[in-house]
Amino acid sequence: MDIKYFDNAATTKVSKEVLEEMIKYFSEEYGNPSSMYTIGRSAKKAIEKARKKVAELINCEPREIIFTAGGSESDNTAIKGIANQLKNKGNHIITSKIEHHAIIESCKSLEEQGFKITYLNVNKEGYIDLTQLEKEITNKTILISIMAANNEIGTIQPIKEISKIAKEKNILFHTDAVQAVGNIPIDVKEMGIDMLSLSGHKIHAPKGIGALYVKEGIKFKRFIDGGHQEKNRRAGTENVAGIIGLGKACQIAKENLEQHMIALEQLRDYYISQVEKNIQGVILNGTLKNRLPGNANISFKDIDGEALLLELDQKGICASSGSACTAGESTPSHVLKAIGLDDSIANGAVRISFSEENTKEDVDYLVKSLMEIVESLRQKS
Ligand SMILES: *Cc1c(COP(=O)(O)O)cnc(C)c1O
Repeated sequence: MDIKYFDNAATTKVSKEVLEEMIKYFSEEYGNPSSMYTIGRSAKKAIEKARKKVAELINCEPREIIFTAGGSESDNTAIKGIANQLKNKGNHIITSKIEHHAIIESCKSLEEQGFKITYLNVNKEGYIDLTQLEKEITNKTILISIMAANNEIGTIQPIKEISKIAKEKNILFHTDAVQAVGNIPIDVKEMGIDMLSLSGHKIHAPKGIGALYVKEGIKFKRFIDGGHQEKNRRAGTENVAGIIGLGKACQIAKENLEQHMIALEQLRDYYISQVEKNIQGVILNGTLKNRLPGNANISFKDIDGEALLLELDQKGICASSGSACTAGESTPSHVLKAIGLDDSIANGAVRISFSEENTKEDVDYLVKSLMEIVESLRQKS
């Protein structure tokens, strides 16, 4: 069966151009970048080229980019690395209730070590409250970490306003921008971001490669100890092919950003309007203003989202009932809880996340399938 893939917030397909650039770094240019001979040096050179491309996408200096094994490692490094570095200065970190598990669980593990964490509430649309953020800051606060865009409901936070508050109080600001980078404009200088996490597999590069941006001059305890790679900031022989792939994906993302956003917004808005027109009892979760271009999260009343997903799978459709990380659990995701959804509404949520490979015809097939499945599931219940 033809697969209709609508789960690009969970992962994306490696693009052809990305794969093509990577291949020779498995088979011909397989040297260790730390080695002195030619194939080692050329791998090193290719890494530095890729670093420049990543830096250009978010407008930072190449030396401010550290390659990691993905978004989760970048998040862990930022949270734990700053906590350990600044523990003599303070033990308080502010984050939000709707962060990715990589942030939430990093904070939980710091709590066990005596750190105090404030998890900010969000409103119905998924925004944090800037006044509450200001109120929660103490003279022990060392870090504010707020995601740029949410992976489940697509809400984009007012990053510039958050960074302004952090700066005024002389507190470091980290953002998990894994869903934002490549999907909306991100400029770390203009937005006042001190640290930023991004991941390859959410932007058509492979899984297991990511990057952490750390503004020049900011010190943190490194997360992986070992050799001198990445200027002593992240040990381990570099994932050369992955890095090359990430660089290429960032280059494409930068070149295509505007048309990418328009294409995804069109698919998203068409999908939402078709569902609202053709299916009764639906609720759009999140907000239409400041929403990721490719994200649509809709609750179907009196429907079990998991059951709906299984039926969609029978029709070759890949979607998510919230976050892939919480799939399998039948309890509503922490994000849908945080925006105040009743359990019954949260359980009926389906997240659709588009890529440029999706077409209007794909959306028609999706909506038609949803109409049939929702009707039959509602009749059974
Ligand atoms: C996917 C994701 C991560 C984790 O990235 P990995 O590369 O899968 O470890 C972190 N934060 C957000 C918002 C994500 O969507």
